[in-house]
Amino acid sequence: LVSRKKKAEDTIITINGERIGDGTPSFIFGPCAVESQEQVSKVAEAIGAKGLRLIRGGAYKPRTSPYDFQGLGLDGLKMLKAAAEQYNLAVVSEIVTPHHLEDALPYLDVVQVGARNMQNFELLKAVGQINKPVLLKRGMSATVDEFINAAEYIIASGNSQIILCERGIRTYEKATRNTLDISAVPILKQETHLPVFVDVTHSTGRRDLLLPAAKAAIAIGADGVMAEVHPDPAVALSDAAQQMDLNQFDEYYDALMKFMKQY
Ligand code: PEP
Ligand code: MN
Repeated sequence: LVSRKKKAEDTIITINGERIGDGTPSFIFGPCAVESQEQVSKVAEAIGAKGLRLIRGGAYKPRTSPYDFQGLGLDGLKMLKAAAEQYNLAVVSEIVTPHHLEDALPYLDVVQVGARNMQNFELLKAVGQINKPVLLKRGMSATVDEFINAAEYIIASGNSQIILCERGIRTYEKATRNTLDISAVPILKQETHLPVFVDVTHSTGRRDLLLPAAKAAIAIGADGVMAEVHPDPAVALSDAAQQMDLNQFDEYYDALMKFMKQY
């Protein structure tokens, strides 16, 4: 059902007035994790000031170590929703189990399924039964075919509002946190009718690569870019090395807008 052979036209997903997949790149910015009301409100203000329509922020965090910050859960989601409403933004946030769905759904506009859960088939079936868009991230060791099959689980359960997100795969290369599989973007665009995003933060893990990776994503035909923004990355409770501060965010967004005008 996700195949181009089944449906030739691009799927366009409208969220809060933003048309994802309509040929003009969309953007999802926000902190790695929700840490406080003040923190998310500052980021929401900066995003809203650019006329953007979406904010991300993790409340249920799938952390590699059980001793790392696990996220604020539902309290965090409520903070993110309050900040988003103040600046007319839609909320993108991850849930890590179907059990979260009922409580979390009222505070979510887009449900994120993270890389670590790309093959959590019960979660895929559960988000397949809601009528809100799903942002599905590629598993860090998933082939393109496995990624497409994960999306198929969601659409087979009834939800066709799926955004695919390339977020880097695990290779022998250590210069970046993951290896951004940029060619996955045109392959996914050819093979499926779904919009394709690139998460430049988790793929590169390097602040200095966020701009060139986003340019590459847009140039190769991605429908959007996701990147992390935090008011004070040095004290961030997760992903401190790769989030932009608000000044860097301004410069980054200006540079991307200039780049896009060349097309
Ligand atoms: C995230 O986007 O918050 C995240 C944890 O990313 P990933 O699932 O791609 O590792
Ligand atoms: Mn992160």
